[in-house]
Amino acid sequence: MTTAPASAADRLATAPDTGDALGATMQAILRERLGLEAFRPHQEEVCRAVVAGEDALLVMPTGGGKSLCYQLPGLALGRPTLVISPLIALMDDQVAKLQELGIDAERVHSGRPREEAREALRRWRDGRLEFLYVAPERLRVPRFADWLERHPPGLIAVDEAHCISQWGHDFRPDYRLLGERLPGLRAAGVPVLALTATATVQVQQDILTQLGIPRARRFIRGFARDNLAIEVVDCSPAERIERIATLLADEALRPAVVYGLSRRNVEEIAAGLRDRLGARVAAYHAGMAGEARAGVAEAFQSGELEVVVATVAFGMGIDKADVRAVLHAGMPGTIEGYYQEIGRAGRDGLPSRVIALSSWADRRLHDFLRDRSYPELRDLVRVLRCVPPGGIDREALLVQAPVEAEVGEAALDKLWVHGAVEITADDRVARTPLADRDDGRGWQVPYGQQRSFREAQLDEVFRYVRGGDCRMATLVRYFGDEAAARRPCGHCDVCAPEGAVGRSFRGPDEGERRALAVLVESVPESRWVSVGRLHKEVGSALGHPFAGERRAFELLVDGLASAGVIDVRDAAFERDGQTIHYREAQRCRGSFARGGRWIDAVRIDDDAMSGAIRPRKRSGGSRAKAVRPAARTATGGPDPTTLDELRAWRLATARAEGVPAFRVLTNATLDALATALPRDRNELLAVPGMGPRLVERYGDDLLAELRR
Ligand code: ADP
Ligand code: MG
Repeated sequence: MTTAPASAADRLATAPDTGDALGATMQAILRERLGLEAFRPHQEEVCRAVVAGEDALLVMPTGGGKSLCYQLPGLALGRPTLVISPLIALMDDQVAKLQELGIDAERVHSGRPREEAREALRRWRDGRLEFLYVAPERLRVPRFADWLERHPPGLIAVDEAHCISQWGHDFRPDYRLLGERLPGLRAAGVPVLALTATATVQVQQDILTQLGIPRARRFIRGFARDNLAIEVVDCSPAERIERIATLLADEALRPAVVYGLSRRNVEEIAAGLRDRLGARVAAYHAGMAGEARAGVAEAFQSGELEVVVATVAFGMGIDKADVRAVLHAGMPGTIEGYYQEIGRAGRDGLPSRVIALSSWADRRLHDFLRDRSYPELRDLVRVLRCVPPGGIDREALLVQAPVEAEVGEAALDKLWVHGAVEITADDRVARTPLADRDDGRGWQVPYGQQRSFREAQLDEVFRYVRGGDCRMATLVRYFGDEAAARRPCGHCDVCAPEGAVGRSFRGPDEGERRALAVLVESVPESRWVSVGRLHKEVGSALGHPFAGERRAFELLVDGLASAGVIDVRDAAFERDGQTIHYREAQRCRGSFARGGRWIDAVRIDDDAMSGAIRPRKRSGGSRAKAVRPAARTATGGPDPTTLDELRAWRLATARAEGVPAFRVLTNATLDALATALPRDRNELLAVPGMGPRLVERYGDDLLAELRR
């Protein structure tokens, strides 16, 4: 060992206890041994806790500097530190960095020659190593685990700790061994630090339980990003490419990353943007050759490309600091995934935009995808039945199993994750003793739990879409950072609707004004009432469409909240072991002090409102049956010629005003106009999507256009 740790320890022992001796020691190690100038946010408090011998869980976004939080304490304590790390490449990289600094670090994993690993272990045994990195599967070798118990570490770090939880997105069966082995490895007073970039509150709890450190201190830090302005825009799938093009026409939103939902979707969007924008756009997804992908990543990094349209595959290893916008052509299936993706915007700390396009139809797509990656239990059973006692080749199994090919692969993956089969490196599949256990302690129960967990995650995503509370606060609360969640960000579409560029808010039209006036009287002052109950009780008094369309009703509620007349919050209760979420509202005290003028402060989400009213008319078979008194076309749908003319008019108007087309009138409103064919201002006002402001502004032009 070098002499530096001893001198650090000396300093710790001899420093006068008047000052902050530990602080001085840590500063010295930071500079002299790790070659760093200063702590990054949150590192110091975590290091202090670990040096003081506390077990801890650190959840901090990628790149936040988590490794230092065990490296520095290990050096400060002058004790050999064991690091469990699941990825060989990361491990090699970390060890190389430490060695460059002159720190005695080594690693043991399956990719290393035996003799080198043996030499590393000899040095550990002789107390000549400061850090030993091991892959979790090494603990499966009983002799190794026993040997480690005889030469125990003085500090244990578990990196990527979410891998231990079956609720995490990256569950690794080998990590389970850790829970079993850890107690034996821990001499008294040896702290354990678990680290991860992605863990929901539930996963955090699971990590602590699995590692046997239930009382560990939780540090959930660094999730609030104050330079991102987040919006979630209601937009039907058919309109998304056009909408993205309109947004990206603004140079302030480039360079940009656009996330698509599938490879095909990515290709479509990229082609659409190339046509419409003429900007330098490229697609990026896992189906492309590695070389082509690397080329795209490089061109984006260098600024040669302005827009990359990608699947989730994009982002690993990309560290472009000046991404001005991250757009989603549909919400991802989990909040964690969404958070990781939006995190690629504004790494340089400058204001950046994050805009997701979503609609209620997306939920069905996600349910479908969920069934693909988490097949029904009976499909898993079908695949398992085809695994003979002597094992079978993976490909042969997938051919034989009586399920769709994609379902078969997913089913096999889940059987492996939950320990019903083993799969060797040369792709032989064999049953495990767990395979035939059906007494409730087999693989079936945990799989069922995992599947319903996915369902709950989707619920979470679509609750977030609906909004109601500051977007950033909602996200950081999801990760358990309660302190940060109490500070609204100030620039998302909920905090600052007037600053939104994707959502278009408008003042209420006449029907909405009437409904709002009735609704606001029904919300009790200073007492919370559930929004569902309000709808039941006063919905019918509000008239069409708010009586029938719950979603439209909810948008009125949002409108009142935007004006500061009422407060809305999320609430939940338990029933039959399930958590039921709902919203509740109360009228703010003295909110009428401004007289009748509060109604002018109400903002209505134009796209969401037309979307909320539209589906009933659009939904397939019911289309012909829909009551449409104003409709005078034979088909009951929009008149195609009129629609074309209106589109041309809209384009000309948009150009003249220098605004995007949907800012003049949305596609939904054009459809409604070409369907209803209004003849005067009153009929015009009755068309969904047309409010007094729009009639005022474009009424005469539109009527002239419609008369032609
Ligand atoms: P995480 O594990 O949280 O993703 P890392 O520990 O890998 O992050 O650190 C990310 C990068 O930040 C590394 O290159 C590391 O050297 C650097 N880093 C960490 N702490 C500091 C610091 N206090 N000052 C400067 N650079 C730091
Ligand atoms: Mg890390």
